[in-house]
Parts: sequence; C-alpha cells; structure tokens
Amino acid sequence: MIRNLIPRSETTGEPLAPSWLSIAAFGSMHLLAFTAPWFFRWDSLALGIFLYWLTGSVGICLGYHRLLTHRSLRLPQWLEYIIVTIGVLALQGGPVFWVGTHRMHHAYTEDGQRDPYAASRGFWWSHVLWLLYPHGDTFNRQAHQRFVPRIHRDRYYRWLETYFLVPQILLAGLLWAVGGWSYVIYGIAVRCVFLWHCTWFVNSATHFWGYQRFEIPDSSANLWWVGILAHGEGWHNNHHAAPNVARSGLTWWEVDVTWWFILLLERLGWASGIKRPTASLGSKRLKQNRPSEAIALP
Ligand SMILES: [Zn+2]
Ligand SMILES: [Zn+2]
Repeated sequence: MIRNLIPRSETTGEPLAPSWLSIAAFGSMHLLAFTAPWFFRWDSLALGIFLYWLTGSVGICLGYHRLLTHRSLRLPQWLEYIIVTIGVLALQGGPVFWVGTHRMHHAYTEDGQRDPYAASRGFWWSHVLWLLYPHGDTFNRQAHQRFVPRIHRDRYYRWLETYFLVPQILLAGLLWAVGGWSYVIYGIAVRCVFLWHCTWFVNSATHFWGYQRFEIPDSSANLWWVGILAHGEGWHNNHHAAPNVARSGLTWWEVDVTWWFILLLERLGWASGIKRPTASLGSKRLKQNRPSEAIALP
C-alpha cells in the first residue's frame, strides 16, 4: 500500500527521490493544524474562514489563476499588486512558480512528463506528491520563466517570488499581537492546510470524478463539492474547455463565488476586459445532453 504511494520515474521505473525539506514543511503545518481543538475560539474560527475566502478566492482563484495565469480580466496595476500579494498569503509559492506550473498544466494536460500535476500519474500524485517528489521541470525556475515572461520581468513579482514567506510572517505576527496563538493557529495553520487541500482537489479530484459538459481531450470534470470548496474552480471541465474565460460556473447552480467578486469589481469600475463565455463555447457543448439554455451565455 505504502509502496504504491512512492512515485517512480516514467522512464527508468526507479523511485523518485523525495524533497525532505518539502515533506518537513508540509508535514509540520499539518501537525500545527491538528492542534486546533486546544486553541478553539469562535472568533478564531471566524477569522480562519474569512482568511480562507480572502486568500483562496480573491488571492489564488482571482489573482493567481484568472488574472495572472489566464489574463481573463484587467485590473489597475495597484489593485493587481494588492490581490497578488493576498495570493502570496495562501502559502502556495510565489507567482512565477504558481502561474508557471499552472500554464504547464494547461499546455501539457495529463502528460506524465510535462504536466506538473498530471492526473495520469494517479490521484495522490496530482493531489500532493508532485510537491514532495521533484520531477521534470516542476521546480525549474528557468522553465517557469519561459512560461511567465511578463510576470518575471516585474520587479515586485520577482521580489515576492524570493521572499514569499515574508508577508506570511508579518501576518502571523499581526495575528499573534491581536488574538494570541489561537489566531495564529486558525488564521495561518488551519486556514493554509485546509486551503491547500481545496486547491489540490482541483488538480486531483476534478480530473477523476464529476460530469463533463464539454468534449475535450482530457479527463477534467465538473465536481460540485470542489466547486464550493475551491471558490468556483471545481467546474474544471468548463475551465479546461475555455481557460481564458473569467467565469467557471456556467449555470446558476454551478456556484462560482470568485465570479461574483469579479462582478463586484466591475461594478466598482475597477475590472475591465472581462472575458465572458461566448456562443462559440456553447457550441462546444455536448456530452451528457445537458440543455444548452442552462448555460449562462451573454
Ligand atoms: Zn486541470
Ligand atoms: Zn487554469
């Protein structure tokens, strides 16, 4: 059982070498999160839920994913910097790494060598093992740069890439000063670990389970519970069918809270050039004979 969890090289069949630093970092955060019952307070839980939404939906889904990776909308530069800084607080690496690996995922979806979290290598690989066993170009900064030249040219983003822990340490200090260790455990450890798994389910679960609205050459699917947990990103078949569209949930019941926030930014006059689903996306539809009128086209 455990043996099956050890990933192997696709070319030689040899076990891959683990990164003990990554295993220690992710493991210790999980251990810290498991101390949550001893630090429970209702205000700490509320703080953790708020930061889970802020860093997950606004930071990762909107900032890192729909804005930086897919350029599905435009924001004023000052607001882009704020939102990407919120994304750094999700503790999922800097923007060059995150956006670089995600662009690789779309360019080589399910190619076991070149897609960093290829679902073809198994559920646990796509969920978390890809972070623990360096493989291919996943941690190759030069490879990331080729995929994200514009982000890499930006001095602030290069700084965030190197010092992505600094904003987290400052936040931890602030939380400790305001609410003690209970705020640190819920606002940092519990929140980051919970959000990690929500984000990772987009790479794992939605490439294994769910329904496919669009006929596309990969196994991405729409999975309702990941749609809710990952702030709209669980409608992953919709996303792979049209990655540059700013909206992931295409019907009223495909809840996409990140899209609601984009609409708010548009109403405030800050978001422009929003790429909406078009009729051509509607014509791609098929598979399970879902009625076309169910898709929210403009
Ligand atoms: Zn995917
Ligand atoms: Zn994407």
